[in-house]
Amino acid sequence: MSPQKTNELAGQKIIISGGGIGGASGALALALRGADVTLYERHYEFREVGAGLQIGPHGVKMLEKWGLKEKVVAGGFLPERMQFRDGVTSEPILTMNFDEEFIERYGAEYLVIHRSDLLNLLVEAAKEAGANLVNGTMVTGADDHGDGVTVHLADFDTEKPYDDVECDMLIGFDGTHSIFRKLIVEDDPVPSAYVAYRGTSKIAEEPDPEVANLKDVRGHIGPRCHFIQYPLRGGELLNQVAVFQSPRYLDALTNGTEVPEDWGNNEEFKNAFGHTHDNVKGRLKNMWLDTWWQMADREPIKNWVASDRIIVMGDAAHPPLQYLASGAVMAMEDSECLALFASEAAAKGELNWPEVLREVSAERAPRCERIQTTGRFWGELWHVDGISRLIRNELFREAERTGWFIYADWLWDYDASRREYLNDPSKGQLPEEIREWEYNLHKIARQRDEGKSANELTI
Ligand SMILES: Cc1cc2nc3c(=O)[nH]c(=O)nc-3n(C[C@H](O)[C@H](O)[C@H](O)COP(=O)(O)OP(=O)(O)OC[C@H]3O[C@@H](n4cnc5c(N)ncnc54)[C@H](O)[C@@H]3O)c2cc1C
Repeated sequence: MSPQKTNELAGQKIIISGGGIGGASGALALALRGADVTLYERHYEFREVGAGLQIGPHGVKMLEKWGLKEKVVAGGFLPERMQFRDGVTSEPILTMNFDEEFIERYGAEYLVIHRSDLLNLLVEAAKEAGANLVNGTMVTGADDHGDGVTVHLADFDTEKPYDDVECDMLIGFDGTHSIFRKLIVEDDPVPSAYVAYRGTSKIAEEPDPEVANLKDVRGHIGPRCHFIQYPLRGGELLNQVAVFQSPRYLDALTNGTEVPEDWGNNEEFKNAFGHTHDNVKGRLKNMWLDTWWQMADREPIKNWVASDRIIVMGDAAHPPLQYLASGAVMAMEDSECLALFASEAAAKGELNWPEVLREVSAERAPRCERIQTTGRFWGELWHVDGISRLIRNELFREAERTGWFIYADWLWDYDASRREYLNDPSKGQLPEEIREWEYNLHKIARQRDEGKSANELTI
């Protein structure tokens, strides 16, 4: 069902730099409020690299608001549950059912969908809502002159500059290497030493009946690796992601030598899962070997406003590690939050972009900080070995027995209209019990940078 298009933002000219899931969702959410949106994507087509994407109920709620629920459900897959298994024994340690109780608690289903299917749906819906989407054009910079923003453009191939364009507000949805983030902070990605291989295969050709009938998001976890499987496209495809810690990356980090560019290469991949159960190591032949993804995030930033009328959102503002499966969802939440706050202000006749952007940043930055930092912690918990692994397994079993909802409520039960983080920014902090916890790899990198010995590495 199509959403009702409203016109609170009629006459507002908005430019978006970047046409990933974030930019496309921003164009849609704002065009649905009547804004005059132009999106520039440097590539000649809208594209997503990789395969599956998990969209928790926090994201499905956005898609529903934008009238896309039926289409994403038809093109994706609604898993029955998420099941964590020990990577060594393949024994289930935590099962989270996506049943009626789940849907009632979080207001939507848990969905998995092919990345390019989701991007195509967002792009088509944004165009239908009236947004102007332009490919092959790079945004090279912008000047905020108080009354508006002058945006500089160039041809992606030749870098030949185009005429400048004017807008009332600009969103840098330009990914983790954003040029607009640099206006706020000069920082580098924080590599995690983990690397991901992905692959899809036809479920109909699957010889293992257990996998052929898979209706779950299944994650085998640790030590020092994990392996995720789930069906896509109504159960036609099987999506698999194999992630491991790169020994060469760690060696370089601890020895203070240069990290080889191809860390995580095929040779490492072949040796990384020897200690895992057959349900993991027996499945690796289906993975693509020509591309792998070196996992990195960035430190959270507390302010996303680059200037009064320029804001960064999506991976440009908060690139996460992938463990909470929320990077694309956060970008969608950003879009809806901005469209909502701006249209509410406009409906009262009080639209003031600098104020709206500050309010959006104050609501969203703590929320995304919590997802980024918890994601790091959650990933470390997946990868522990030795006694820690046994304790982790027991904790997971205990969470299943006593109710795991309490650990997930903060993530999946979110609604920007409640302005929860704006009213209480301390919600962006890790829970008190783990606040002292520090992301180990990053600490090591800092010690190395300060010329200290890196022998403190304990993994
Ligand atoms: C292994 C892995 C698994 C993941 N799993 C999940 C998951 O299950 N669920 C989930 O929610 N998230 C997941 N994520 C995270 C998610 O993929 C990202 O957070 C999300 O796609 C970011 O979207 P974005 O639009 O902000 O950035 P991007 O996808 O990086 O898009 C930025 C766009 O901007 C364009 N661009 C850049 N510079 C310019 C410029 N100067 N001018 C014009 N265009 C420009 C780029 O070409 C690109 O198209 C995962 C990530 C990884 C690596």
